[in-house]
Amino acid sequence: MSERDAAAQQLEQWKAKNENKIGYATNSAGIGIVNPMTSLTIGKYGLIPLRDWQMIEHLSHFHRERIPERIVHAKGAGAFGVFECTKELSEYTSSSVFESVGKKTPIAVRFSNVAGNMGSADSVRDPRGFAIKFYTEEGIWDLVGNNTPIFFMRDPILFPMFIHTQKRNPVTNLRDWDAFWDYFSLTPMCVHQVMFLFSDRGIPNGHRHQHGYGSHTFSLIDKNRKLTWCKFIYKTNQGIENFEDPKEAERIAGEDPDYATRDLYNAIQNAKESGNNDYPSWTFYIQVMTPEQAKQQKFNVFDLTKVWPHKNFPLIKVGKFQLNRNPSNYFAEIEQLAFSPNNLTPGIGDSPDRMLQARMYSYQDAHRYRIGANFQQLPVNKPVNPRNNFQRDGLMSFYNQGGAPNYYPNSFGGPHPDSEAANWTPPPQQFEGKEDYYPEFFDEDNYSQPKVFWERVLNNDEKTRLVKNLASTIKLTKRDIQERTADMFANVSEDLGARLKQQLFGKSKVVHL
Ligand code: NDP
Repeated sequence: MSERDAAAQQLEQWKAKNENKIGYATNSAGIGIVNPMTSLTIGKYGLIPLRDWQMIEHLSHFHRERIPERIVHAKGAGAFGVFECTKELSEYTSSSVFESVGKKTPIAVRFSNVAGNMGSADSVRDPRGFAIKFYTEEGIWDLVGNNTPIFFMRDPILFPMFIHTQKRNPVTNLRDWDAFWDYFSLTPMCVHQVMFLFSDRGIPNGHRHQHGYGSHTFSLIDKNRKLTWCKFIYKTNQGIENFEDPKEAERIAGEDPDYATRDLYNAIQNAKESGNNDYPSWTFYIQVMTPEQAKQQKFNVFDLTKVWPHKNFPLIKVGKFQLNRNPSNYFAEIEQLAFSPNNLTPGIGDSPDRMLQARMYSYQDAHRYRIGANFQQLPVNKPVNPRNNFQRDGLMSFYNQGGAPNYYPNSFGGPHPDSEAANWTPPPQQFEGKEDYYPEFFDEDNYSQPKVFWERVLNNDEKTRLVKNLASTIKLTKRDIQERTADMFANVSEDLGARLKQQLFGKSKVVHL
């Protein structure tokens, strides 16, 4: 952390712009505050009367300054910028974002750690959230991605239990490595993501030096309602950088827990002040797959624990984005920034990915609890195009749509159905099968892609660090959990299992489950 960097100078910069523009202090009703430094008392050393409205309002509002922190992704940083289309995509989608080369769409981005609480350190081993809000003229498109193309699970019912193992033990209120590895070793569908997490990319060097992925399979719908399955990928133009030495990340976590937040703020501020336009930026790609191709794949293309191999589904460069404005107020613009995977604008649709289906419900529900029923009225969440709906009232409704009819059908010129919608609504989909629980889904092909990751993607040094990183916390658990976890990794590759056992037990016996 440099001395007096851009972040450290924020107040000074504010003063340079605003000095002498701000009038006298008031309460929230605009009434002048007489004395912000002392309470009203009966006599110099006497009691404070109830009529000291100034102190009562001051304290009462203070008590309510915090909203519930996000249950996951609580620690975050964000910024604003612009997305630019570099390839017209009418072949696949009617989306206005991709309608012509050079088309620009304003965006907001929020980066986050997943497991830690709001004040936790940035430089810890954890997946990172990487969510983009596109303010399109057709409504808000929220691409609520991560810095990995996959996730720990393929069924949403597992999510709350998984998160319990990443959060604090209910008795000790400490992170619990027994719970962490007990769960993973009993849930081998996690193994692909766990390998990403314990590889070098598990601790990125700040938010700017990582890729982002929409992760789920989405759909693109063209103006004739033709559907193409799609993945979204955004690659950093700053280059991948990681803390390969976890000790260095630990040192930074102690010295500057807000390392990534500071780095992002300073990078944007420095680019602005120097005028060099060197803002953090990413190149945006898609992968596409026809419904016919999807049926031919050996793996379930809607399974969030799997990637689409690049060789068969090459990346297509379609855009770029940069972040060129820091929030003018963190709470208003980042803490209240609320992403909802169900916000899909015309030309972009969902898929039968079970995790996506659940996230389309969960995020909005969580925001209603965390921020309130009218969270989408807040300036940072509201669309740039007109909103005409039939929702009214609720806490803090400041956009209550005046006298417009709040019902449909109506004969008073109120909102009417979108006559264009028929052109972009996804085509009808047919699903076959009986309503039932399908337990075999739990263990569907857990190992083939992790095996490729180990054998073909990582070089030997990266493999050595992955094994060391895994062993560093597995060894903190009970012996039977250590053995079961090592066996799970041996199922990915005998070599990986042997190396891990060597680290843990000083021997390399391979035991298959
Ligand atoms: P490719 O060789 O074409 O792609 C390998 C990918 O791995 C590249 O995108 C590379 O990213 C990425 N990568 C390299 N090191 C790491 C790491 N430590 N953590 C996460 N990603 C890393 O192979 P395939 O497409 O055939 O995929 C093979 C395996 O690669 C998959 O089974 C999966 O495990 C992994 N992978 C695949 C991705 C995909 O979308 N196909 C994406 C990421 C990983 P970069 O180009 O930025 O260096």
